Amino acid sequence: MASDVVRTREELRAALGDAHPGLVPTMGALHAGHESLIARSASENSPTVVSIFVNPTQFSNRDDLARYPRDLAQDIARAQEAGADLIFAPDLETIYPPGFDTAVDVGDVSERWEGASRPGHFRGVATVVTILLNLVQPARSYFGEKDYQQLQVIRRLHHDLALPGIIVGCPTVRDPDGLALSSRNARLSREDRIRALALPRAIETVVEAAASGETETRLLEAAALSALDLPGVTVDYLALVDGSSLEPLPRLRAGARLLIAADVGGTRLIDNAAIESPGGSQGSSARQLTSSVAK
Ligand code: AMP
Repeated sequence: MASDVVRTREELRAALGDAHPGLVPTMGALHAGHESLIARSASENSPTVVSIFVNPTQFSNRDDLARYPRDLAQDIARAQEAGADLIFAPDLETIYPPGFDTAVDVGDVSERWEGASRPGHFRGVATVVTILLNLVQPARSYFGEKDYQQLQVIRRLHHDLALPGIIVGCPTVRDPDGLALSSRNARLSREDRIRALALPRAIETVVEAAASGETETRLLEAAALSALDLPGVTVDYLALVDGSSLEPLPRLRAGARLLIAADVGGTRLIDNAAIESPGGSQGSSARQLTSSVAK
């Protein structure tokens, strides 16, 4: 069935009527990671709405915004294929009408890591997600664990502002060699694509060290950093944190998450995984990674 494509608030409301759909917010450049969110939503909601909007306010770097890949026709086809019933592809003024002068700031959880490296980024994300959830009134909204801090910021925002529906976090989809799918991967040269495997390898190193009983953060982080110590790879941050507050942990404990951001040949990549110590049950991301990272 061909999905409808709507562009304005009025068309969206007319298409949805009283329905509370599943919502998958995206910035387009759809890949198998996005498709997994859409398929999950389609299996749990009818209809499923996919929004495609490259949100300028979450880019702190103009160049990054200008270089963001845009191919609406291809994105519509991919979203349909994955199970979307309705595509919401607003233009700038539909999201930010003339005179728009409001922003949503989430506190502590948005300030460290990505927030520190990309000033204003989470303000842009929180503002656009608030607008989208209010416009669509979804029963469930789907976000990827790939952007783990974003997911925690959105959970905080959703709870604090009593936004509609529930937030569903979905596991990171990876290439067979372990690299997390990202629209930015297309910018990597062949050599940098190979170097980028240092990120999943660093995670794997920590998963294995934790599984063999190491609990000291300092040592776990040092092991990960040595996996990333390659020419052309510059670590922005690497931290073992509490999976909800994202505060640094002195020792591994239940619910820990490893967060990594690194520049690989001029392209900024992020990755993360649940890190479990023996005795606890291993998180799905870590387990998936263990079986998929090429040795
Ligand atoms: P974006 O278009 O980059 O804003 O991403 C839209 C949604 O897709 C966000 O919730 C992302 O976390 C999610 N996403 C991006 N890459 C992946 C991936 N590799 N696996 C799962 N979800 C992803």
